[in-house]
Amino acid sequence: MTKINWAGFAKKTPKERLSQIKPLLSTESFNVLENQILLNQDVASQMVENTLGTFSLPFSIVPEIEVNHKSYSVPFVTEEPSVVAACSFAAKIIKRSGGFDSTIHNRQMIGQIALYDIKDTHSAQMTIEKQKKELLTIANNAHPSIVKRGGGATDIKTHLIDDETPLLVVQVLIDTKEAMGANIVNTMTEALKPSLEVLTKGKSLMAILSNYATESLVTARCAIDYRFLNRDKIKARELAKKIVLASTFAKKDPYRASTHNKGIFNGIDAVCIATGNDWRAIEAGGHAYASRNGSYEGLTTWQLDETNEKLLGEITLPLPLATKGGSIGLNPSVLVAFDILEQPDAKTLATIVASVGLAQNFAALRALVNEGIQEGHMKLHARSLALLAGSLPEEVSFIVDALLQEKHMNLATAKKILESYRHSIL
Ligand code: NDP
Repeated sequence: MTKINWAGFAKKTPKERLSQIKPLLSTESFNVLENQILLNQDVASQMVENTLGTFSLPFSIVPEIEVNHKSYSVPFVTEEPSVVAACSFAAKIIKRSGGFDSTIHNRQMIGQIALYDIKDTHSAQMTIEKQKKELLTIANNAHPSIVKRGGGATDIKTHLIDDETPLLVVQVLIDTKEAMGANIVNTMTEALKPSLEVLTKGKSLMAILSNYATESLVTARCAIDYRFLNRDKIKARELAKKIVLASTFAKKDPYRASTHNKGIFNGIDAVCIATGNDWRAIEAGGHAYASRNGSYEGLTTWQLDETNEKLLGEITLPLPLATKGGSIGLNPSVLVAFDILEQPDAKTLATIVASVGLAQNFAALRALVNEGIQEGHMKLHARSLALLAGSLPEEVSFIVDALLQEKHMNLATAKKILESYRHSIL
């Protein structure tokens, strides 16, 4: 575990921060950050279509998230103000309470082949069950390299969608090791289509992975001492109680749950983007999991442990994260992110990301039931307006202070304040 002195980190310049985290970085990664080396345009053009160039976003760090007794520095890529600060604040409090305890339930992907126009769906299901071993061999022969790596297809199940035209769905479980596995799963399921058509005497509709990765569930838990919520014991307990009520609100009301979960994904997405992971897939799986009980719910649960005076938090969601494959090896910033994380494997990365989600939720709920988030946000909004109005770095704090005094804060007001400020110092 590399030790970094984090003292005063937030108040330093990016250059000073870079030298502070130097022990975490390889020479190449240090060079990438020092010289702001970005994704090469030629590589970008090979990755996607119709490229005009590349697009940059702030690359930040959340220090000291303690997961399973190890402290991690976590790279965040986000354009949203206060996400990094909120997670850092929560991580600090949770670390003092013993950190996060995180468990991986399983780590397999699910591929689906849907078949239709089957005369006898029941006997088709029985035939598939009997031929399971042969079908798994066909799947594994389609992607032998993942089998060599210790992974591959492990099981096959079927279920029926009994509609006007019934659909027989064949689900294949695949261990994709360090990859997210979209291409591995799609190759295997495609390879199964002809045999399944013969076995079922039906037609295949499609073969594709499912992003509802219920075989890649991860749980993170924390137990926050009341004394870290407020010095005053009564106020601390009241705050804990309000966080529990906020969690109930999100469990019972989809309007609230949507915003509750958005806050969780503020952190999860930021790490997914930094590590080159497919954040759309992670979001899709997370939102589907949030709806597993028939209505859309908040992904976290907060409870009181009155005996030990602790606030207990828990999150469970599908996190089939990758450390290999996709664009991970192509983007120099992603390689820096993995250096900062000290090269975790896919399962460890998932435990860190689940913990980030819980930390982000704690910070959001604490702020919401306490002072509300608008005060802090208005300051950040004023900052954005000051920058948009064209303020120089040395002018920003004056313009922000002046804007905060205004009744209606907008770009026109920011421009007017900047103009009169510049006029006044002439
Ligand atoms: P890749 O196709 O890049 O596959 C990963 C490859 O990495 C493996 O095939 C393997 O190749 C290699 N590899 C090296 N080391 C390891 C290791 N230790 N464990 C596993 N594989 C290893 O990526 P994915 O299949 O993961 O697909 C991810 C991409 O697919 C993402 O970019 C995603 O956006 C995209 N996608 C997502 C979809 C979705 O619905 N979510 C749908 C379609 C695409 P080898 O063994 O041959 O060396």
